[in-house]
Amino acid sequence: MFLNKPNKSSIIQVKRLSHILIIIISALLIAGIYTRVKEETPPRRLVRVIHPELRPYVNDFLLLLIQNDIDIPEPDVIIIDLSDIYKYAGVVGIAEGMYFDMICVRIDRKFWSKATDQIKRSLVFHELLHDAFDLKHNSIDMMKPQLEIITKEQFNKQKIELIQYLKDE
Ligand SMILES: [Zn+2]
Repeated sequence: MFLNKPNKSSIIQVKRLSHILIIIISALLIAGIYTRVKEETPPRRLVRVIHPELRPYVNDFLLLLIQNDIDIPEPDVIIIDLSDIYKYAGVVGIAEGMYFDMICVRIDRKFWSKATDQIKRSLVFHELLHDAFDLKHNSIDMMKPQLEIITKEQFNKQKIELIQYLKDE
């Protein structure tokens, strides 16, 4: 017969073991709570939709800002897309993100397909200025409510006025 009678040293060992177990269980509990908190925090949603036909004009806009050291707002939601909007009110572009922390520009598909290169550029710049910088109508030449046929030179003058305006803000 083999009696496993606990002596003093084995009691100390059991005590040590229970201490270690408590530490391990506590660590697991804390890890579990941390994981749950992490899971419950919603991920930052990033929406980026830029129609490939609009992209070159958006790039022109961004390039102008970068070249002139103007901070570009980067909200989580950026939608710059073609859509069927003209039939509703004769509107060729809408800036739905104005006054909100997002950029949501929609350009009428039919109008776009027939517009000249310069009209396209003026339109994209106008709508992006509404959304990205909350610019109102008639604040600068580019923000006239009616689209005008202008020359490249006139557009270059508008760009100079725009940069000055944004820098003064
Ligand atoms: Zn407008």
